[in-house]
This record gives sequence, structure tokens and C-alpha cells, in this order.
Amino acid sequence: ENIFEIKDLHAVLAEENVEILKGVNLTINRGELHAIMGPNGSGKSTLANVIMGNPKYKVTKGDIIFEGESLLDLSTDERAKKGILLTFQHPFEIEGIKFQSFLINAYRKLHGEKETFSELNKILKARLEKLKVSKDFLERFLNVGFSGGEKKKGEILQAYFLKPKLLILDEIDSGLDVDALRIVAEQIKEIKRNGTSVLIITHYKRILDYLDVDKVHVYVDGKIAMTGDLTLANEVEEKGYAIVRE
Ligand code: ADP
Ligand code: MG
Ligand code: MG
Repeated sequence: ENIFEIKDLHAVLAEENVEILKGVNLTINRGELHAIMGPNGSGKSTLANVIMGNPKYKVTKGDIIFEGESLLDLSTDERAKKGILLTFQHPFEIEGIKFQSFLINAYRKLHGEKETFSELNKILKARLEKLKVSKDFLERFLNVGFSGGEKKKGEILQAYFLKPKLLILDEIDSGLDVDALRIVAEQIKEIKRNGTSVLIITHYKRILDYLDVDKVHVYVDGKIAMTGDLTLANEVEEKGYAIVRE
């Protein structure tokens, strides 16, 4: 059963009318994990932002369908409420907001007020050990003073806790050492087991080796140029993105 479909999607930078997405096609079935690999500047983050409805970009053609409904007329907030979550390549730092209250407020906006604060807090606390972060992680301001690795672990904690139907991970693996990479990959596997469909955007196939990937897409110059399985990721690693031109 398909949960998410992108059809011939074209989008421009709203201010400058420069086309960045040039005909993206993608279908993800419920519970699948897909990877998009592509070079710097090919438009991967733009794709993620357009899926979330970032007003910096304007869709000029095509459609984005989630659970049978077009997302194009919905705000970012409405898309999030439908169950789509994007983790950022460069997470924002927000002074004055504790990570814990940020997460619990976001959870309640999405899932209602059934659970008490302390029930939700317990779930969060139990994750800290698995993530191998310090005990005060949740008491710190959102991403403020976090190391690169801590920010990525924070993003994955958010993804686990908020239980989206579709999770888009934009370069969650960038800047992680081997140990952190394994920890993050374990979390992604668990999120997938909980029923979330996952789209992971990356430069490197490294993280894919730890995951159970259903499809690998090679993304070059604003569209998906090739689709395959993990062997395609190996080919990219070996020969570079030139394989697309061959
Ligand atoms: P990737 O994530 O694959 O590295 P991006 O989607 O970040 O690529 O960027 C694709 C291209 O679009 C780049 O040339 C980038 O400079 C340009 N671009 C994307 N968003 C903006 C923006 N908000 N302002 C100016 N240029 C942008
Ligand atoms: Mg980039
Ligand atoms: Mg990017």
C-alpha cells in the first residue's frame, strides 16, 4: 500500500524563479525505508523542504500525495499534523526553550493530551541511555551548545518520540563518528519497526550498511536519475555520481 507519492515535481526558489526540482518521481510504500543519495547542491534538502511546504520554494508543476491526498495546499504545520516529520541537516538552536518541553509540547500537538507530563518524560529519559548522551540532555536549551553529534542524536530522539508516519532524515549521518553512527542507525531501525516509513537523504552509503534499505535512489540535478537496491549505493561509492551519465 503506497503511503507517499511524488509525481513529476518541479519547484523554484520563490524569490528568484530559479528551478531547483526538475521532475522528481518517487513512491514509498507503508513501512518501507528509502534512501536518496546525491552530490552536494543537487537539490536534496530543497526536496525535503518542498515536501514540508517551506514557503521559500514554489511548486510549479506536479504533485505530492500523502495517504491519497495532495499536500500542496497545506501549511507546514498541517503537513506535520498529518504525520510527516523532517529532521534538519542543520538543526536550529533556540535559547530559552528546554529540549524536554519542546518535545512534550510537540508530542501533545500531534497526539493529544492523553499522557501525563511525567509519563512522557519517562519515555524520553529511557532513551537517553540508548543514545549515550549526558543526563542533562533534556534540561538543556534546544540544541544550544550541542555538539554536531548531540544535535543529530537530538533529531533522532525527536523522530522516535513523535512517532511520525513518514520520517524524512536530511543528512542525519553527516559529521557522526562510527559509534554515534551505529547508535543513530539502531534508532532508525527501531523507528521503522514501529511502523514509520522512512526517507533518508545522504551523501554516503556508510549508514545504509547498518539499515535494512528497501530502495536506493540516485538523485542528480533536481531529479531521481536511477533507482535500485543497496548494490546501487555500492556502485555510487565506488565510481561516484558519474555512473548516472554512463
Ligand atoms: P543539497 O541538499 O543536495 O546539497 P540544496 O537543496 O541545499 O542541495 O541546494 C540545491 C541548490 O539550490 C543549490 O545550488 C543551492 O544553493 C540552491 N538553493 C537552495 N535553497 C536555496 C535558498 N533558500 N536560497 C538560495 N539558494 C538556494
Ligand atoms: Mg548539501
Ligand atoms: Mg542538503
